[in-house]
Amino acid sequence: MKTPITVAKGDGIGPEIMDATLKILFAAGAELDIEEIEVGEKVYLSGNTSGISEESWESIRRTKVFLKAPITTPQGGGYKSLNVTTRKKLGLYANVRPCISYHPYVSTKHPNMNLVIIRENEEDLYAGIEHQQTDEVVQCLKLISRPGCERIIRYAFEYAKVYGRKKVTCFTKDNIMKQTDGLFHKVFDEIGEEYPEIEKEHWIIDIGAAKMADTPEAFDVIVMPNLYGDVLSDVAAQIAGSVGLAGSANIGTECAMFEAIHGSAPRRAGQNMANPSGLLQGAILMLVHIGQQEVAEKIQNAWLKTLEDGIHTYDIFKEGVSKQKVGTSEFADAVIARLGQKPSVLQPVAYQGSMLQLKPYVRKAPSNKELVGCDVFLHWPGSNPHELANIIENAMEGNWKLIMISNRGTAVWPNYTPETFCTDHWRCRFVSAKADVVLNKKMVIRLLEKINNAGLDFIKTEHLYNFDGKPGYSLGQGQ
Ligand code: NAD
Repeated sequence: MKTPITVAKGDGIGPEIMDATLKILFAAGAELDIEEIEVGEKVYLSGNTSGISEESWESIRRTKVFLKAPITTPQGGGYKSLNVTTRKKLGLYANVRPCISYHPYVSTKHPNMNLVIIRENEEDLYAGIEHQQTDEVVQCLKLISRPGCERIIRYAFEYAKVYGRKKVTCFTKDNIMKQTDGLFHKVFDEIGEEYPEIEKEHWIIDIGAAKMADTPEAFDVIVMPNLYGDVLSDVAAQIAGSVGLAGSANIGTECAMFEAIHGSAPRRAGQNMANPSGLLQGAILMLVHIGQQEVAEKIQNAWLKTLEDGIHTYDIFKEGVSKQKVGTSEFADAVIARLGQKPSVLQPVAYQGSMLQLKPYVRKAPSNKELVGCDVFLHWPGSNPHELANIIENAMEGNWKLIMISNRGTAVWPNYTPETFCTDHWRCRFVSAKADVVLNKKMVIRLLEKINNAGLDFIKTEHLYNFDGKPGYSLGQGQ
């Protein structure tokens, strides 16, 4: 049975490296039924700012598997990134980027590096929810969800299983962001328990990133939230040796997209020079994804053998190491000639298990959610928090009590250190004035009315909830 896939040959070097990749795939016996679509420069320049037509979307949604060559995004003109649109529209929550060195055949400072970055691809600060709230302060909302964490972390462990990897490391900054990164870390610990055969560890992202840049061979699979993964996957690809050798997968519950990590290198286009390896690596991830592991394994071992035999395209060619400088199509022919062979110095691959089958997310029973307070954010041009507290306390009565004012997260009232710099953006934390009063939303509305009547400009509220008795909010710095 052939698996239908959608293929886009893209722009610049795209068509050459795609032709080379497909030639290798078919020679190795991949069972694929290809639907070709057009995306990228021509589509953009025809007036479609998304770079892809409705019919092409239909093809991807029908086949659910998209092998994409790099495209050229025209400068200016309000053209939207096709990558971002594809990820968001198709819900491609996992971005997988293996970063491996091929020492001594490709030069790198890290000869034993062999790690995979699995980056959450949809949420975190990339939800893109931003607001200007005061003259001086803008905000970007960092959203981390339990289903988002569960899916990406489970994906990382399943990936480790299928690709025979031994350890999964989690990077977060949960010493500071106890709720958001704290949830990511907590879910990592929970799901990790289901994989006793795999070693697990957690690093705070700053020291973890430093360690990864210095000693990448200490890591195997690293899973992390979106922003950290975006930054660190580029660092990892770069220090592995050549971006021209790396592929990436964007995986969703329904659809998936596979590509090289590099762009369309327009200056190299049409010269039969480009290295097709990055796209080939993306295609190998695709073959495993669709359950054609044996073909994937055969191609990967032949490709490693080709590198080992010193048959190199110009970008990795090095006198003394390389034996033959070849063009795109000759490189593909060299890989095809080695199908069935294994490398002798580089580690041959063996992809175990079946395609990644993730347990669907099951929503937990709702917790007991109890309103215990309210943070009201104010745009206030004053500078002394005691003055602000006075205005608020004179306006207040009844159910609420002001217990803290903070500025950019640092508590500045009731204890004020004049050295603390304050902007025009203030958070006032209210809790129930009496132990026997159970707070409700009507009381929040009345609180806002009082604040408004006192002439204060409230810009946002956040409710403070306890979930099953545990606070679902963080304390102010210094509170
Ligand atoms: P690029 O990755 O296309 O090229 C940078 C340089 O890397 C090239 O000049 C070339 O020397 C080298 N290179 C890249 N791929 C190579 C290969 N396969 N073989 C040999 N050498 C290779 O980056 P850029 O020049 O910044 O971007 C060019 C275009 O690609 C832009 O329009 C950009 O928007 C687009 N782009 C697309 C994607 C994508 O479709 N996923 C990703 C990045 C950039």
